[in-house]
Amino acid sequence: MWEEQRIQVLDTARRMSRTGLVAGTAGNVSQRFHEPGGRDLVAITPSGRRYDSMTAGDIVVLDLDGRCAAGDLAPSIEAPMHLASYRARKNAGAVVHTHSVHASIVAVTCQEIPALLDDQAAFLGGEIKVAEYAIPGSQQLAQNAVAGLGPRNAVLLANHGALAVGRDLEEAFDHCQLLEKTAKVYALARMLGDVRALSPRALEAGRSAFAARFGDPGASAC
Ligand SMILES: [Zn+2]
Repeated sequence: MWEEQRIQVLDTARRMSRTGLVAGTAGNVSQRFHEPGGRDLVAITPSGRRYDSMTAGDIVVLDLDGRCAAGDLAPSIEAPMHLASYRARKNAGAVVHTHSVHASIVAVTCQEIPALLDDQAAFLGGEIKVAEYAIPGSQQLAQNAVAGLGPRNAVLLANHGALAVGRDLEEAFDHCQLLEKTAKVYALARMLGDVRALSPRALEAGRSAFAARFGDPGASAC
């Protein structure tokens, strides 16, 4: 059941692993879809499985309250963070959580990344906040991640990693890569000296492009 959505999640999870955004079984991927005439459901990677041997049947399907709709395995321990993101953001159709290296470097400094780059402003929404630390898999981490994400498309998780949302899997994956690039630029630029944020005019232009592209990020009605 829901084979197509499960295959798409598996493909993105493998891409995340292949491109080095995570190592081993780390990270997790989900997408939201609407059951015809019914509920919003979320297909999500299972807990503790290697991506190279994972199958579409291993992908778990949950409702937005976390009840299992399909699948035999336990969902990712970060399912609460994915579900909270969908509940908070009606324009989120997919969520990707990584432990990518440069995002993790900035995440251990617990310093937000200012709006530095045009593509960062236009696709991620401006500055990148660092969500307060909480134990992996906890409801507190889910709350902190959503608070740090706000209306933007990416957030760093203190002493842990990164999370990005998009309207679909491809977009959420692209946003993870852009977040990683932005964190790398920031970390390396700080080694050279001070960094200069975008001018207010450039930031406004980027935010206008962001708003035009992604629309109202408000809370999901589901
Ligand atoms: Zn993690």
